[in-house]
Amino acid sequence: MTKRDVSLGVVGAARASLSKLLGAAADAPGEGKDFPVAMPDEEWRSRLTAEQYHVLRRHGTERAGSSPLDNEYRKGTYFCAGCGAPLFSSDAKFNSGTGWPSFFKPLEGAVETSEDNTLFMRRTEVHCARCGGHLGHVFEDGPPPTGLRYCMNGVALRFEPEAGA
Ligand SMILES: [Zn+2]
Repeated sequence: MTKRDVSLGVVGAARASLSKLLGAAADAPGEGKDFPVAMPDEEWRSRLTAEQYHVLRRHGTERAGSSPLDNEYRKGTYFCAGCGAPLFSSDAKFNSGTGWPSFFKPLEGAVETSEDNTLFMRRTEVHCARCGGHLGHVFEDGPPPTGLRYCMNGVALRFEPEAGA
């Protein structure tokens, strides 16, 4: 055993207790499915912040109103905080009043959906098509032209304003 193995073991133990704290009991989103960007859970955990990991890899939901992106209205693009894939344009963003960044449509092919029957509700879960990271849910009470409301966790997104925006 090298020195490196020993230190990795210590980090691993620290992470294990962190996941206990976060109540990481739920299955990871898209489990059993192959995504273009895939890596072991441990790797995700080391790359993401605790909040990002909880939402993206453990299907968590951020507190409403907690994301600065809820009030972000500059022109630009929203990327997946997990893998960096472009997901939404600011052109499709609207104020839903829910406290979560909301869009009426994703960029083409950027997200996929699955049925979510947790919390005794039937909802449609939205995840990144490239890495499978959980982003939020989509509801059918959005504005024109789609009538859809992509209710996203801001912590799962990274915003890049257009130059000059
Ligand atoms: Zn992604």
